[in-house]
This record gives sequence, C-alpha cells and structure tokens, in this order.
Amino acid sequence: MRPPEVSKYRRIAQLVMLAVVVVIGIQFTLWVEPQLGGAWPRVGRPAGVEGFLPIDGMMAFRHLLHTGAIDAIHPAALAVFLGICLMSAIVAKSFCSHLCPIGFLSEMLGRIGYRLTGKRHTPPKWIDIPLRSLKYLVLGFFVWAVWFSLSPGGVDAFLHSPYAKLVDVKMWLFFAHPSRLTIAVLGVLVVASVFVRDFWCRYLCPYGALLGMLGRLAPFKVTRDPELCTDCHACTRVCPARLPVHRMTRVASFECTSCQDCVMACPVEGCLTVRAPLVRTSKRWWLRPAIATALALGVYLAVLGLFRLTGHWKTEIPAAEYHRRIPAISSPLYTHVGGVAMAEESDGTPVRAANQPANARPSGLAGD
Ligand code: SF4
Ligand code: SF4
Ligand code: SF4
Repeated sequence: MRPPEVSKYRRIAQLVMLAVVVVIGIQFTLWVEPQLGGAWPRVGRPAGVEGFLPIDGMMAFRHLLHTGAIDAIHPAALAVFLGICLMSAIVAKSFCSHLCPIGFLSEMLGRIGYRLTGKRHTPPKWIDIPLRSLKYLVLGFFVWAVWFSLSPGGVDAFLHSPYAKLVDVKMWLFFAHPSRLTIAVLGVLVVASVFVRDFWCRYLCPYGALLGMLGRLAPFKVTRDPELCTDCHACTRVCPARLPVHRMTRVASFECTSCQDCVMACPVEGCLTVRAPLVRTSKRWWLRPAIATALALGVYLAVLGLFRLTGHWKTEIPAAEYHRRIPAISSPLYTHVGGVAMAEESDGTPVRAANQPANARPSGLAGD
C-alpha cells in the first residue's frame, strides 16, 4: 500500500539537511580521530556540529538572557537552538517536519512500516496518553537542570569548564564507539518506529516537547475552512500526529509539526492551508505548501546568518588547545557529576568543581 503523499518542498528540505548533517559528521570524524592519537587533523572543526548540543544551547540561552553576552565556547549551539525555536514558534513546530534528521529517519521508518503492514498502528489511548507525557517529564528535568539547579555564575562556569569544551568530542565517542546498551536501546527505538510512527518523537523527545509548546503560540498553523470542507476525513487519515483534523478549524496542538501531509491529502483546493488567523483563503499564494516551507526555513537561515555575519559562529577555543586536550579525554577533568563539572589548575590538574548548584557554597570542592 502506498504511504500518503508529502510536499516535495518539505522533502527537499529534509534531504538537504540530512546531507549537511552527513558532511558535518564526516568532517568532524576526520577532525577528531587523528587528534585522539596525538596527530594534527587535516581538516578544520565544523562549527555546525554544535547543532547536536541542545542542552548547551539552552544553557547559552540562559547565559544570554542573564548577561547579554553570547557564549564564545559554542556560539553555533546557541544559534541553532534559537533558529530552531524561532522557526517552530512562527510556523508551528516546523523544525520537526522540515529539518530534524532524526524526525526524517523516523518518518522513513514509519513509511517502511506502512508499506509492510498496509496500515498505521496507533497504541490504544490508555497507553498513548501516559506515554506522551514522558517527553514533558524529560523536558522538565532539563529545564530544572539548566534554569533552577545552577546559579547564573554556575552556568557561566559550566559553559567554560573543560568538560563543556570537549562535550562535542564526548558525544562523538558515544556514537562512534557505542556500548552494547546503546546499540540495544537504538535497536528497540528503530523497531518501535517501524510499527508506531514517530515513536521517539511522540513519546520521548524533550526537544519536540519544547517545540510543541512554542508551536502552540505560532501565528502560522494549519487552518481548515469549514465552508469548503466536505467532511471526507482524508486529512485525519494521513495525519502522522493522529489529530482529528476534519473537526478542527485551527490545528492548535502540541503534536502538529506543520508537515502539511493533511494539506496534500485534502481534495478541496484552499480548504486546508497553513496561514495566520486572519488571512483568508482568497489569497491564493497562502495555499502553496512551498510558502510555509520557505517561511520556516527563511526564519531558521536568518538566525544562523545573523550569528555568522556578526562573527558569532566559530568557537574561540584555539586549535592548539583542542590538540592538547583531546588525547586526554578519558581524564576525570572531562567529566561532570549531576551538572557539576571539574575545573583545572594552570597545569591541567582537576581540582574542584567549575560550577556549583544554585544553593551550594560559592567555592566548594566537588563532593565536599
Ligand atoms: S520530536 Fe525531536 S527528534 Fe523528533 S523531529 Fe522533533 S526535534 Fe527531532
Ligand atoms: S495536522 Fe496536518 S500538518 Fe499537523 S501533523 Fe497532522 S498532517 Fe501534519
Ligand atoms: S481532507 Fe479537506 S475536505 Fe476532507 S475533511 Fe479534511 S479538510 Fe475537509
């Protein structure tokens, strides 16, 4: 059975983003691997790798609000975090359906499942609803860790700690040399995503939970014109978020990703569109899915462009410092315990906590 039709503009955006991520991954590997053995790399560090550090981006956002300064250690993490949040706050949760590579892979796995079984599997509501709340719990934990467990000074110290400086290399090691447990968990998620569309996104992703909340505020949402609607239910049948689109006038839901699969499925031209509340369908250009995609991507690229143009894209960490630190990445210096990272003496000896919980004494040792 054929899966539902998707907007070709959205698919192009997803493929381009996937290609960018693959290039960044290859370049970062070529940059890290020689340095683990003490050799110099032949390529530079791709700043875009910081897009995979959302917690760092969230911390840098708090730092920005408190100090007005952009974190110089991972400025691209902040740029990507703000770009993702802003595009999702303007075209509801659009990062998930247009740019997120995990969302794209999840969608592909769901389509494989649809071809295999010929139908969409949805867990019963009594399982689905409690499972959906899990991602908000995970998000709540990160919000507590970033906004409430640390003082503003603690956030600054964490962002400049040795651990934070190599957190991208730690992430690379986690995926390049996965433990058996990591492989098992990834395997379960892949299989689950084949049979339950967007399993990770729907139940577990804290980023998606945050973007869903921002998306509720978005002016641009899928909107149904009840005067044109024939109540055919085609939109509801294809919605990956399992929303009753045929009954909604404005699709205001934490789960809607503005994927426009419902728009593509609707047989009545102009009945379903992504638009602002007061824009009527007589404005034909709002009907085109390409416009919504262009708007979302335009916002994201504008934020990244602004950071680049103002010189806030590449880390201030010198290549020589990376070269000195990376071979020693297994040192306790590059660890943290519950958000408390180690600082170092001038000779690199780990000596004390670089940052403290919000309620701790100002300069105590970790664990003292
Ligand atoms: S829910 Fe998370 S993983 Fe899924 S598409 Fe959105 S950001 Fe990506
Ligand atoms: S309501 Fe439409 S745009 Fe939103 S998730 Fe469902 S199919 Fe996609
Ligand atoms: S697909 Fe279009 S016409 Fe059919 S129920 Fe949905 S909005 Fe109405």
